[in-house]
Amino acid sequence: MEEQRLSFALMLSYLNRVLEGVEDPRQPSNARRYHLWDLVLGAFSVFYLQCPSFLEHQRQMQSRHGHNNAQRLFGVMTIPTPNQIKNVVDGVSAALLFPVFRWVCQALSAQGFLKAYEVLGGQILVGLDGTEYFSSASIHCAQCSHRTHKSGDVSYHHDVILPVIVAPGQEQVISLMPEFIRPAIAQGNRI
Ligand SMILES: [Zn+2]
Repeated sequence: MEEQRLSFALMLSYLNRVLEGVEDPRQPSNARRYHLWDLVLGAFSVFYLQCPSFLEHQRQMQSRHGHNNAQRLFGVMTIPTPNQIKNVVDGVSAALLFPVFRWVCQALSAQGFLKAYEVLGGQILVGLDGTEYFSSASIHCAQCSHRTHKSGDVSYHHDVILPVIVAPGQEQVISLMPEFIRPAIAQGNRI
């Protein structure tokens, strides 16, 4: 990949590059008021800004002033609601977005930003945190993990592991994807 200065625009271009290859999980017969890109970029904008009401504010801005920042900053052409995002984006595999993390990490490394995170003779520390973000005794899907309790009851859950590059004295952490560290964990190697 060509080396470009890391910027928000470059990171957004990584996301757009991945989206070009993502298939819309909706049946062709479904009404498609929103393009898949608007739904994914809309979700990204909420997480990027850490503001759950961002899209609602932008919808109001659009109706009052005829323009909005979701389009200007993120390229969201038609602003979807959280439910519309959830209904469709749940059907898109998160693994399709892994290349974005890889490209950002490669760019950080190539441009020397990871130097500040090197410790103990050039090693990178990765903190691992795991959490269960869904659990139910009745609702489950094909991708669910499950537990059989002593009572014989079965419960279903989804877990996530969150690897981040950390270093003493650095306030920011850098997210990685599990696929990035899996070979290193399996082999007990340095990353
Ligand atoms: Zn499930």
